[in-house]
Formats: sequence, C-alpha cells, structure tokens
Amino acid sequence: GLQPCRVLSIQSHVVRGYVGNKSATFPLQVLGFEVDSINSVQFSNHTGYAHWKGQVLTAEELNVLYEGIKLNKVNHYDYILTGYCRDQSFLEMVVDIIQGLKKANPSLIYVCDPVMGDHGAMYVPEHLLPVYKDKVVPLANILTPNQFEAELLTGRKINTEEDAVEVMDLLHKMGPETVVLTSTDIPSKNGDQFLVALGSHKIVKPDGTKTNQKIYMDIPKVDAVFVGTGDLFAAMLLAWTHYHPKDLKMACEKTVSVMHHVIKRTITYANEMAGPGKRPSPAQLELRMVQSKADIENPAIIVEAKII
Ligand code: ADP
Ligand code: PLP
Ligand code: ZN
Repeated sequence: GLQPCRVLSIQSHVVRGYVGNKSATFPLQVLGFEVDSINSVQFSNHTGYAHWKGQVLTAEELNVLYEGIKLNKVNHYDYILTGYCRDQSFLEMVVDIIQGLKKANPSLIYVCDPVMGDHGAMYVPEHLLPVYKDKVVPLANILTPNQFEAELLTGRKINTEEDAVEVMDLLHKMGPETVVLTSTDIPSKNGDQFLVALGSHKIVKPDGTKTNQKIYMDIPKVDAVFVGTGDLFAAMLLAWTHYHPKDLKMACEKTVSVMHHVIKRTITYANEMAGPGKRPSPAQLELRMVQSKADIENPAIIVEAKII
C-alpha cells in the first residue's frame, strides 16, 4: 500500500556496537520497515565491556518525546517493539504509551521482549516482574522470553518439552497470541551441539475450532557469548511474522536463519581478529550487522522447524 509499515522501537542506543535499537533498526530498515526509534539509554557501548558510560532517559523525558509525536498527529504505528528496561516508572510510561497507540490504531501489534535475566539470575530490579506480569505482558501480541523469563512470568519450571508447551499455554492465557521461547536448556535429541527453541501461536483450524499450534527448533550452537542477539531475534520475528502472518513455522525458520548467518559471520571474524588460541574480546564479538545485509534480506533457510 501507500502507507509504509511503521515501527516504534523503544530500546537502548550504543555509540559502538550492536544492542537494542542498534541491533533492531538496520535489519528492520533493510526489510522495508520505517523505524522510529526512542533511545531509552545512550551508552558508549554495551555493559559487557570493561568500561561503559552514558545517559539514561527518564520516564518524564520519554513522555515528552511521545507528546511531540502526538501533537503532530503522527502517532500512528503498525508495530511497537520494546526490550531491555531497568526502571519501573519508565516501564509504566511505556505501558501508557502502548495503551495510547492501541487506541490510535486498534490493530497495532506489540512485540515484547520481556528482558529480565538469563540462566537463573535477574539483571533487572525484582519489582519489575509484577509490572511485566500484570501490565506489560497482557498488552503484548508477540512475546519473546528466554526460558528463565518464561519461568518467572508463569511461576513454572521448564525441564522438558512438555513443560515448555504448558508454559507457553499459560503465557497465551496472559494475553499474547504468539509466544517464542528464544532459548531453553531442554536437551536436544540431536545432541548438545543444538539449542532448543519453541514457539506457539493461536490458530483457527479448518473446522473452525481454535487451538495453539506449537513448533520446535534445533538451533546449531556456536561456542561464544554474543550480545545483542536477543534484540536482533525480536526484531526479525516482528519482520518475518509480518511477511508470514499465519505461518509461525516459516517466520521462525527465517528468523533463526538470519540469526545463524549473522552469528557465523561474527564468530569467524572475531576468531580471525583474536588470533590462534585466543578468546575474542567483547569489541571483536560485536555482531557483523552491516556485512550481513544480504542474509537479512533473503536468508538461506538453515533449520527446519517441526510442528509438534
Ligand atoms: P535470550 O537469552 O534473550 O534468548 P540470546 O541472545 O541468548 O537471547 O538468544 C537469542 C537467539 O540468538 C537464539 O535463539 C539464537 O538464535 C541466537 N544465539 C544466541 N547465542 C547463540 C549461540 N551461542 N549459538 C547459536 N545461536 C545463538
Ligand atoms: N542494552 C544494553 C545497554 C546492554 O548492555 C545489553 C547487554 O549487555 C542489552 C541491551 C541486551 O543484549 P541482548 O540482546 O544480548 O540481551
Ligand atoms: Zn533476551
């Protein structure tokens, strides 16, 4: 149509490297989206470096930016995307903005990465959990928790595929039509070289009845810790569910394939820069985003998602 598909992305900005908006904006633009970005923080670099410095946007400053957008009557968005947030009043202002945007466009899709922690540890203040549970997740249309975040939100531990299926059903009951567990510790039947991810979305079967369709994915593991990958995942899931709205299997295959190509390019470069036998530094492990433009636009599919 004449109107471009417009995304409001409220995430971190870093001067050097790729997390938050730096991880989401370029790939979304490459895939044809107009991206309006609000930088929730502006840091020199991500917090995994030896040093980091910068500024944090307050809830009031966030509101001022939104007021400006509203005054000009350009507060019409097709998508809103949010990620890492470490302040309660900021998160509550984000909730107010989403409610306002949903009023302006009832078919607005909210893609929420409920960033709270990983591998058993929270890295945001604990009092954010009830805000996510009671206010944020109920507004979300697409939710991308990792295993730990899904466990926090539902109060249920995930040890098996069956547990994951139950947890995703509980998350649906909280609001979102689409849920993707971006990474889990569930052992893969194909061995420990694979990372298990699962997805679920509400569908209407040919006979008219409703069900939650579940998908399973084995993602080839790369032996390094990447930063900004969760943010890239959520952005790519937004894009590929937009282009394949009724086909979560295809959307996830494309999302995970983009991830794989970017990560492969990144680790190859990082190892080369570090030299033989040396562990790459955080700076060397920054995602090779610009170099991956062609893979983002047209990812060769490297995983087959299974409908379970
Ligand atoms: P989160 O903890 O929020 O799920 P991650 O960054 O750990 O975020 O994972 C998001 C996605 O990034 C995974 O689904 C996977 O596609 C990719 N990814 C991250 N780290 C790795 C890795 N070491 N090897 C392979 N894929 C990875
Ligand atoms: N935003 C900032 C400022 C960060 O420092 C980080 C991680 O260090 C992130 C976001 C999240 O990155 P990821 O996508 O790996 O969860
Ligand atoms: Zn995450």
